[in-house]
Amino acid sequence: MSVNSLKKREQEARSGKQEEKPLPTAALPASGVVDWLLFNADWLVACDPGMSRFRSGAVAIDGDRIAAVGPSGELRNKFSGRREADLSGYLLMAGLINTHTHAAMSLFRGIGDDLPLKKWLEEIIFPAENAFVNPDTVYLGTLLSALEMLRSGATTFCDGYFFEESAARAAVDAGIRAVMGQGFLDFPAPDLPDPTNFQARAEEFLSRFPTQTDRVRPSLFCHAPYTCRPETLKRIKELCRSHKILFQTHLSETRDEVDEIVKRYGLRPGMHLDALGVLDEATLCAHGIWLSQDEILSIAKSGASISHCPESAMKLGSGVAPVPDMISCGVKVGLGTDGCASNNDLDLFSEIGFAARVHKVFRKDPLACPAEQALRMATLGGASALGLENEIGSIEPGKKADLIALNLNQPHLTPMYDPVSHIVYAARGSDVRFVWVDGRQVVKDGRVLTVDEAEVMSEAKRMGDKILLSKT
Ligand SMILES: [Zn+2]
Repeated sequence: MSVNSLKKREQEARSGKQEEKPLPTAALPASGVVDWLLFNADWLVACDPGMSRFRSGAVAIDGDRIAAVGPSGELRNKFSGRREADLSGYLLMAGLINTHTHAAMSLFRGIGDDLPLKKWLEEIIFPAENAFVNPDTVYLGTLLSALEMLRSGATTFCDGYFFEESAARAAVDAGIRAVMGQGFLDFPAPDLPDPTNFQARAEEFLSRFPTQTDRVRPSLFCHAPYTCRPETLKRIKELCRSHKILFQTHLSETRDEVDEIVKRYGLRPGMHLDALGVLDEATLCAHGIWLSQDEILSIAKSGASISHCPESAMKLGSGVAPVPDMISCGVKVGLGTDGCASNNDLDLFSEIGFAARVHKVFRKDPLACPAEQALRMATLGGASALGLENEIGSIEPGKKADLIALNLNQPHLTPMYDPVSHIVYAARGSDVRFVWVDGRQVVKDGRVLTVDEAEVMSEAKRMGDKILLSKT
């Protein structure tokens, strides 16, 4: 199949589901002084629907939004910046979107490896969470993860955990964009000893949520259909509908989960959620590894989205999600790292690379999940999965200025024929040197500007020592 027909196939799959909405460009300046002018980027990859890329690119930023994108010469004639960055030797692209993680779990990175999901959860993770998860550790772990994500080019993450108000505070302080999902399951949790009080806890979370910025938004997260009863799933989804926020859940992560749900309810997990009425355009399901074709079609019809987390699924041996089938059926698919206790990092460049490779291995088809498709899942596809496609995911006038710049002056990125190929198959998170979120520079020369990195890491080390002591 030629590159052109692959592109056509992808465009058809995309156009099946994603409606074009006008971007808010009316109030943006067409020339004059702007807050930032980024120019001379060796390459600019817009990550827009056509995956435009061109040499010597520039972006003008007005406030928190992109005012213009185009050739450097043209934009420098029209704009001057209160602040300017000459990006010679850099590739400028849209910030990456991590659609599924449990950020605070960075404190448990490497605490237990090489175990099946059930054993890993029940014997390692749940006891550690019961002993150490509190508002302070959630704040610290989320801040640590925000540093890792910003440094490796993720400008947005979608989270699910406990004490999520504290996680939200960390996201606000770090300057990253985030959707914060308060977690629920029908067992005692660190922030909800009596799970029957889940509705009150959800309402408390929503009422306490920081409201000073729309950069950090609330969400509710039911852990999974096998840990949440139908009543819990339905009532949490109802709350999400009434507050117009994203509902999240894990779905079909292991074959055992499918067997369990079929035994309990007589339906596969995707059909079970569909029958409960919790699938719609504001529902994000993580994994979807064991979905049947019928479940994929139901999800596509409902408008719900999937977060594909290939690296975590590989490490836990859970399987390979049928992502090429999902995309060809019109399901919105984003990319996620999952918690870094099961990954074990939050580098989305590595996730893009795994996504582009694992489907080729699994299907023995070198055309499966081509580079553009893998990159789209980490950018515009991720934005659609979160319902934020009108705000982020691409460099287009009117969108939020979430941008990253990669240093190209490195052996593994030289020479360059196609920037998308290098982003997917050769680049690493550590190549990211500059990051803007909401038009604000948050990473400069590879260092996060918003919080004291050394202090966060030394706090995390101290906490790691406590966790280690408890295990000996
Ligand atoms: Zn997860």
